[in-house]
Amino acid sequence: MDKTGQANIVVVGAGFVGLSFALAAKKRGLDVEVYERKARPEPPTSLTANVIAVNRKSREFLEGCGVFAKLTARFSAPYVGMSVFDGEGAGAISFRADEADLPELGHIVDQTALRAALADTAQESGLTVHWESAIDVKECDAALIVAADGGHSETREKLGLKKFGYVYDQQATVCVAEFEQPHGAIAWQWFHETGPVALLPLGESNKVAVIWSSTSDLSQLEEGDFQRQLADVTEHQLGELQSVGPRFSFPLMQQHVFRYVAQGVALLGDAAHTIHPLAGQGANLGFADAQALATILLDARIEGRSFGDVQLLKRYERERIRENHLAGLAMESFYRLFGSRQPAIGLARSLGLRFVHENTALKRLAISVAAGGV
Ligand SMILES: Cc1cc2nc3c(=O)[nH]c(=O)nc-3n(C[C@H](O)[C@H](O)[C@H](O)COP(=O)(O)OP(=O)(O)OC[C@H]3O[C@@H](n4cnc5c(N)ncnc54)[C@H](O)[C@@H]3O)c2cc1C
Repeated sequence: MDKTGQANIVVVGAGFVGLSFALAAKKRGLDVEVYERKARPEPPTSLTANVIAVNRKSREFLEGCGVFAKLTARFSAPYVGMSVFDGEGAGAISFRADEADLPELGHIVDQTALRAALADTAQESGLTVHWESAIDVKECDAALIVAADGGHSETREKLGLKKFGYVYDQQATVCVAEFEQPHGAIAWQWFHETGPVALLPLGESNKVAVIWSSTSDLSQLEEGDFQRQLADVTEHQLGELQSVGPRFSFPLMQQHVFRYVAQGVALLGDAAHTIHPLAGQGANLGFADAQALATILLDARIEGRSFGDVQLLKRYERERIRENHLAGLAMESFYRLFGSRQPAIGLARSLGLRFVHENTALKRLAISVAAGGV
């Protein structure tokens, strides 16, 4: 504790990234506490479409934090394969984890279940989380402020860390859908000119989370229209659509900060980078940030350096900025490639997908990327 009674490291935001970072730091014996403006999350009681695809690398990190074992199979469904289709052409690629000798590619995890598991683990490990609390970062005396307060980070704005990016002309509409046939633990995705649509397997065999990015707000469609369009864009892959649950829409943006760190400050997760959800990588990048920063801060303690030392924090920035920028660039390329109406690009797209599908080495690479590089 410093002279004001604050911990050495203060984290703003108890989302996945902030809390997993704080748990990893606490586990390494560091003095850390968390401020979160929302109430402590309660575990969900029914399936929702509020899910993230957690890759194998992130799962290992969450296991190390003691969190993953708390998730039940109902709210953490493994997916063993991916099938991706060019919705405007004939191209397609599909791969399975066992082609690279892996048991699964990752898990589709309910966000609220994960937040609740993180909160329980925090309590059990004696990590202080100030729920429904805000902190004035300008008055904070901690050696290091870690901003993990999401894409609209107030901390980032107050501390003057500049960002670049833009809002997409797309929003994601999400809902639970029940189909006639089982999903088979496969994550399905179609790319259409208006945006990608994904069906992610949930913990009941015929239920999937629909994540549908589109130029129009699909949550406003009349239910019958929505069902017809959904069945159409997913090409009846899972048989007849039986029902859909309540729909919610989110605006989509891409943004990155120029610098992840300043003296006494580090940005993590969506506060540093927000990308299009088309490949389900945003939280996975955030978990990798959390792991990297916790490890570098342990080094700082061993070296006897202040946690807020900007030269030290730059190690974290160097370790993460390249991968995060590349991921943003890749999402942008996919977004433009599949959004193009030009016939030549459509042909190249189809040939490219087929080429990867038929090339064993490239397919193993695609599997490795989907699993998080492990
Ligand atoms: C439709 C959609 C689907 C997605 N699917 C995937 C996927 O499959 N896989 C994947 O990896 N990623 C996915 N993502 C991205 C993922 O949801 C985000 O990358 C992730 O939630 C970022 O986590 P975070 O902890 O950085 O921020 P957040 O989850 O936004 O958490 C920030 C926390 O900070 C708190 N907070 C904010 N301001 C303050 C303040 N001033 N004081 C205190 N607390 C504050 C908030 O209440 C919140 O709890 C998806 C995103 C969208 C929109």
